[in-house]
Amino acid sequence: MVTTRRQAAAGSGNGDAPRGSRTKKDSSKSDVAGRHPDHVEYEFFGPILGPIGIVVGLPAVMFGLYGFCGKHGCVSLKPFEIPEVNIGDRAISFEGFLVYLGWIFGVALLHLVLPSSRKLGVSLANGKRLEYRMNGLLVYATTLLLVYALVADWDWPQKIGLRASMLGYVYDHYVELISASVVCTLLFSIALYLASFRSKSVLCAKGGDTGSRIYDFFIGRELNPRIGSFDLKEFCELYPGLIGWVVIDLAMAYKQHEIHGSVSNSMAMVCLFHAIYVADALYYEKSILTTMDIVHDGFGFMLAFGDLAWVPFTYTVQARYLVDHPIHLSRAFLAVVLALKIVGYLAFRGANGQKDMFRRDPNSPKVKHIKYIKTKRGTRLMVSGWWGIARHINYTADWIMGLSWCLPCGFDHVVPYFYAIYFGVLLIHRDLRDGEACENKYGSDWDKYCNVVKYRLIPFVY
Ligand code: NDP
Repeated sequence: MVTTRRQAAAGSGNGDAPRGSRTKKDSSKSDVAGRHPDHVEYEFFGPILGPIGIVVGLPAVMFGLYGFCGKHGCVSLKPFEIPEVNIGDRAISFEGFLVYLGWIFGVALLHLVLPSSRKLGVSLANGKRLEYRMNGLLVYATTLLLVYALVADWDWPQKIGLRASMLGYVYDHYVELISASVVCTLLFSIALYLASFRSKSVLCAKGGDTGSRIYDFFIGRELNPRIGSFDLKEFCELYPGLIGWVVIDLAMAYKQHEIHGSVSNSMAMVCLFHAIYVADALYYEKSILTTMDIVHDGFGFMLAFGDLAWVPFTYTVQARYLVDHPIHLSRAFLAVVLALKIVGYLAFRGANGQKDMFRRDPNSPKVKHIKYIKTKRGTRLMVSGWWGIARHINYTADWIMGLSWCLPCGFDHVVPYFYAIYFGVLLIHRDLRDGEACENKYGSDWDKYCNVVKYRLIPFVY
């Protein structure tokens, strides 16, 4: 997919596509930034077919989610019914592009003008550490305040030409916005790929500098593309897509109110859960600097599409569904869903926080009691606490939260469960990938660890 990978521990995620089988080839090509890769490992099913399939397939899924579930009907389980695919009257429009680009540049402006703190990233292959501007939570709060000002009918938004009814635009012109996001991210990724050839000193990502044009465009060739000190990858990972996700949710709540005269408790719950998830990601913004996306992956189609198209337009599927199906949940069901979200969140934050702390300061009183295995590599692997329950209990917790976002949509239709299904596949695959990476890093110590912590994701099951 595309997760905006991320972001999650830090925040989660953002644009991580499930990576496919690996293929390898020898290469003696010369290097751009001082590296001389002598062998190349392709992910996502090879250098050409996999990337092309994903570049075509993911936008198709986005349109499909709308086509099979919109105001015209939704794939139903009881009775089993598939509606006639319908993506509305207008699939693409100039106005859609204006709104979409206006959003991206608007958020960029807030990011640049609002107060920020500066954090240093990890050491790069060229020995440098980049400085990052961080104000995600402030940009998020400012945006939410603006949305509130619109619906509360304050004067000043009106004076600058903003109206609450603009929120309704998102639902009414959803497909046009999807089209704009797909076309813009495609062009953006091409621009990023071409710009990566501007100088021999550009630092390339190991996995995105294979010499295969389609693959490098897809994975991302340049590691940290910047305009001056403005870091494009970090910005896209955390700002327009994640905040856009919550704004689209709120626009759906507005539309539900406009159509049905009230906001259902299911819609309120979905919006709240997503808003908390994004707030958490932005609160822990600096943790993104040690994630795979920032440290290893280049910035290309995979991340750009994930961040700027996939996250805002597929993670909002439940809220969009609820506009047309305003479900009112019983108190008992609400309580169950809320309990699931809380359990998921506590485990997610607990596990990710524990590892973060353990890696930064293993002697901190918060993690001093944790049992661990000392490895030949020098680092320690925790075998008690959250990480003693299962090798990726943080993934399981994240998935539980994802399920709690889908349940408020009831059980009549399958499309609102898209997130739980897709994310489950993504996390199972990600666990296999990380297991493989750890086996390479730790060798026999990893086997020792796996003998102590036997289960991958679910204790006693898997
Ligand atoms: P993890 O936080 O799971 O980190 C994996 C790394 O942790 C390993 O490579 C290893 O690195 C270290 N590690 C593994 N086991 C142990 C141990 N027992 N003790 C100490 N260190 C250990 O990586 P991710 O970035 O994949 O996930 C972070 C979060 O992001 C998760 O909660 C996930 O659910 C979420 N996420 C969300 C997405 C979304 O779209 N919403 C997408 C992707 C992830 P080393 O030993 O080198 O330190």
